[in-house]
This record gives sequence, C-alpha cells and structure tokens, in this order.
Amino acid sequence: MIIHVKKNSNQSSIKEIATKYEAVELITTENHILVTPSSVKKIDDKYQDVIEHAWVSDSDIQLASRKYKSQTREVKIGDYAIGGDSRNTFVIIGPCGVESQEQIESTAQLIKECGLHSLRAGSFKPRTSPYSFQGMGIEGLQLLLEMRKKYGFPIVTEVRDSSHIDAVIEYADVVQIGAKAMYDHGILRKCGKSKKPILLKRGFGSTLQEFVQAAEFILSGGNNQVILCERGIRTFETKSRFTLDLCGVSYLKENINLPIILDPSHAMGYAYGVPDLARACMAMDVEGLLIEVHPNPKVAKSDASQQLTHAEFKKLYDTLKLIATAVNRVIV
Ligand code: PEP
Ligand code: MN
Repeated sequence: MIIHVKKNSNQSSIKEIATKYEAVELITTENHILVTPSSVKKIDDKYQDVIEHAWVSDSDIQLASRKYKSQTREVKIGDYAIGGDSRNTFVIIGPCGVESQEQIESTAQLIKECGLHSLRAGSFKPRTSPYSFQGMGIEGLQLLLEMRKKYGFPIVTEVRDSSHIDAVIEYADVVQIGAKAMYDHGILRKCGKSKKPILLKRGFGSTLQEFVQAAEFILSGGNNQVILCERGIRTFETKSRFTLDLCGVSYLKENINLPIILDPSHAMGYAYGVPDLARACMAMDVEGLLIEVHPNPKVAKSDASQQLTHAEFKKLYDTLKLIATAVNRVIV
C-alpha cells in the first residue's frame, strides 16, 4: 500500500504507522510517502486523519505502477527529457567498452555527425571470465569525461561493483546498472540515494516482476529517475545470444510508469541481426534505444561480434528516422 501523508500530520502517528505496518518512508519535494508491503490492504481507522490518499497494491510493484502514477515518469538526460509529456526517443550509441582515446573520440565524432546527444561506453566491464578485458577503470572514465567536456554529450556508463560506485555516481550523467548487477542491493540502494538517472538493465534470468522490483529499490530510496532497459533474456534458443522480450516490453508499457530503453545489440549478439531488431525496437514506441558501435568491431576488446561499424550504424540510422516518424517519436 502506498500512503500519502497529510501535510502537518502528527509525526508520532507517522512513525507508528511506519513501525506497525513495516513501511518504507520516502520524503520527496511534493509528498511524504509511506510504502508498506503490498500484503497490507487497510490501515487502522485511528490513522485516517493522517492519510491524504492511499493506493492498495496487488503486488510489490508499487511506486513503479501506472495504478499509482498513470503517466510515464519524466527522466532528464542532459538537456533532453524522456517520458512525461515528451515524445523523445534517445538513440544512445557507443562501444561496449572504452579502449583508447582514438576509439572513443571516433565514436564522439560519429554521434556529432548524426546529431545525437549522448555517449555510452563501459569502463568497468562485468565479464563472465576473469581472463577477458575488464575495462579501463578510472582511466576510461576520465576519457569519457574528456569527451563530455569537448563535445558536451552526457555520459552513460556502467557501475560493476562497490569498489568504484561512488566515482561512477559522481561523474556519470546516467549510471548504468548491468544485467548481472540487477540483483546487487548495495548498488541499487546507493543509486536510490543519488539524484542521477539510473539505467537499470534486466537480468537475463529475471522475471518482469523481479526486474521492476529491483527498480522499486531505487524508487523507494528516493530516486525517481529510473529507466528500464530490456536487453534480452535467456531462453532455450542458442542461435542468438539472448531473446529480446518484446512481449515483456508491451507488459511494461501497459503497467509500469518508467521510461523504457531497448538494447538490440546484447539481445542478438551478432551485428548482422542488430539493424532489423533495432527497427523493431523503434516501432515498439519506446523512450530509447541502446546500440553498440565500434570504429573497428573486429578488434573490439569486448562484445566484438555484435558491434556495428560506423557505416553500418549510419545506414541503420537513416531507416530509424523513418520509423520514428511513423510512430510519432522524435529522435534525440
Ligand atoms: C553492456 O551494456 O555493455 C553490458 C555489459 O550489458 P549487459 O549488462 O546487458 O550484459
Ligand atoms: Mn557490451
């Protein structure tokens, strides 16, 4: 149950409700909010004068539910907003990982040429093998910041673990929580205390309920700047790297009040399939796309098989513009 507490309510009654019903207390600029477990369906009548409004929930998807806030929440990325009243769709591109000054500058040039407005690359890479490239770490973050300074693009970059979370939260413009970190409650809670936009990727073995509940950790921590990213789930199929769950995207659009970004690159795993899948993603009428590009994918240190060359991206981009117009979206 979500309870909006009346202004100037008796503080001891608020504390009593919080304790009795095991509620999370959330104070925003507009409201004083208590969120109890969804199993609580009614609050004792003696507290009625404290309650301004209450929403009964059928599951622990509460703050993220359209039953609570019907409109998609607005999230700011640099000078542009997604969600809210806007029809903007962010096309976020960049290599899987920052590898060198030349590589990231070449990507920045491509973004500028296309008239796009953000740069994404990982500097702390969560790899499945300890022997693979682990990312450039702080040095890579510094290269990204140089690009922001030179080109003005907000930087989207990933937090892998607690060892560098403070640096990423401080310097990134959008903090990406990767699929493997979706269950890391230390990261989720720290991101909940930040005001930075958080791009939360779906764990590849997570249900939609678990995915959105991970977002609830951030929302209930006080950060309403949360974006959900569908990036493919593991199914029995092995010919593609993952399976992009577009049915799940329809569920999210219908029921969840958070902007959605789709990642065809990690889902497909092979560059040949990314353009078709990216067009399908744009046709889903969502708030963003995340596409991996590399000046020379053959030598990429991570996710080499799925990154588009710059020429391939430009060709795709021309068709994405047509689809955006067809679904009444403005690419930023
Ligand atoms: C990435 O975005 O490069 C990445 C590692 O993605 P995911 O967490 O979805 O695997
Ligand atoms: Mn990648």
